[in-house]
Amino acid sequence: MTFLNGPRLLDWAKSPPHLQFNKYVLTGYRPVSSVQDCVKSLFYLHNELGNIYTHGIPLLCFLVLLPLSIPWSQINVTWLGVVHFLACLSPEVGSVLYHLFMNHEGGAPVYHSLLSLDMFGVCMVNTLGALPIVYITLVCYPSIRNAALLAYILLSTYGVYCAVTARSNMCRLRSFAWQALFRFFLFMLRWSGMGTGSPSSLRHFLTMDFLAMLGGVINISRIPERFRPGLFDYWCNSHQIMHVLVVVSIVFLHWGMVDDLQWLSNYHCLLE
Ligand SMILES: [Zn+2]
Repeated sequence: MTFLNGPRLLDWAKSPPHLQFNKYVLTGYRPVSSVQDCVKSLFYLHNELGNIYTHGIPLLCFLVLLPLSIPWSQINVTWLGVVHFLACLSPEVGSVLYHLFMNHEGGAPVYHSLLSLDMFGVCMVNTLGALPIVYITLVCYPSIRNAALLAYILLSTYGVYCAVTARSNMCRLRSFAWQALFRFFLFMLRWSGMGTGSPSSLRHFLTMDFLAMLGGVINISRIPERFRPGLFDYWCNSHQIMHVLVVVSIVFLHWGMVDDLQWLSNYHCLLE
């Protein structure tokens, strides 16, 4: 994997304090670097390389493949497709920038700005990703639908504030809980028959939320590296597992939304 000769990597204790957020990752820390040197770190092995590529490669794939698989010609309400596409990209963009530049020479202030950007990306998939689900679930009740869209946006604004100002992983996870509860309520409406949507998409959306939540819990609990500190410094640690689960969960969001958009193009409300 080493294409360039990287700098001498640091141990946990010698790394800058703001990068010491996982005491079970003992080695492989990049020294503080310029923008150019951070970019060069794409080409040698260090303990953030897996985090960069587990979101960087899916980002490139999504950029190309998602627009091709969204049924644009069947969509009557164009913003649903656009918002969905942006939602699928946002967590990967924030994450790649955060992991690539977290050791920038600007130190802790730059690190915290990048962490907020990473969190903002996660907030955007939670917010933008759910708006088409809200719309389609309540498509036959225009006033309730608009009120629900507004409520979800307001709730999400609060979630963004909590997530970008949170100082612990637990706080960050909690800030997404209200949005998750709101989505769960929508899923219950669909399940009970009061809400609308493709019959197959509900399963995809529930899988999406389950995988994202599982990723969050694994990340907080630092499994597996807490059991063998040092063994997972470069590969297969909790954060990388979470990254992979987030990507798979976005794929489920996409499958569900493609089903929903196709379903919507053939659906006529009885109330109208
Ligand atoms: Zn990450």
